Amino acid sequence: MAVMAHLDRIVTEWFAEHRRDLPWRTSTPWGVYVSEIMLQQTPVVRVLPAWHEWLRRWPTPAALADDTPGEAIRAWGRLGYPRRAKRLHEAAVIMRDRFGGEVPADEADLLSLPGVGEYTAAAVAAFAYGRDAVVVDVNVRRLLVRVLTGGDPAPSFTAAERTLAAEVHADVEVPAALWAAAAMEFGALVCTARNPDCANCPLAEVCNWVPTGQRTSRPQAYEGTDRQARGAVLAVLREGPADAFEWPDAEQLQRALDSLLADGLIVRERQWSLP
Ligand code: SF4
Repeated sequence: MAVMAHLDRIVTEWFAEHRRDLPWRTSTPWGVYVSEIMLQQTPVVRVLPAWHEWLRRWPTPAALADDTPGEAIRAWGRLGYPRRAKRLHEAAVIMRDRFGGEVPADEADLLSLPGVGEYTAAAVAAFAYGRDAVVVDVNVRRLLVRVLTGGDPAPSFTAAERTLAAEVHADVEVPAALWAAAAMEFGALVCTARNPDCANCPLAEVCNWVPTGQRTSRPQAYEGTDRQARGAVLAVLREGPADAFEWPDAEQLQRALDSLLADGLIVRERQWSLP
């Protein structure tokens, strides 16, 4: 791929100058792991304080595993999608009991942990252990598809995008972790979904992108959803056990309680509480 020589060099040079100073980039494998789980559905700015608090409180997988799942859910605060807290706790228990208290380095072992999918396994293997993994998040997909094909990424990771990412990975001459971090950062800060900064982009001369006008996906509404009701229940229980909750829609409240119970995020004994 002729353009690859430029892409590889230009993006990593840009990264050297513009990279954000994110603490997990110089942290332990556990710090990397926690950051990747938190960043799955939450922006960097909101993850930063929570990540510092978690690493201060639970500096190793064993430290978290030895605490209760309820403490993990409580400390998750308002990061959203709190099942991630429970799965982080479950993963920490597995690391303590099966992996000698360490975050595993193999992608297959990482994939066996709750809450870890293809992207997260590759990211932890590359960023924590320098493994030669193909790390493809939505930012990388958008960058590669735009520059190399001129289109926009599909709503989910397609076979064609997977092939494209693998070809690029094979051509990249810098270490996989550096390429992945640089491409992700570039997609997050320059080649963004809604407002790519093409006018100031160092890839403009080699980029094939033609805006389609249909490239943005609408963010899911939160107001009035079952997710909001679940969040309200957890906000009460983070302060302590409760007998009842105030919520305008009784059926929705019941759905929220049922689903939180089913997910193991709350328990019901004499009162409702965190596990
Ligand atoms: S020129 Fe625009 S679309 Fe192409 S890589 Fe740069 S920011 Fe993205």
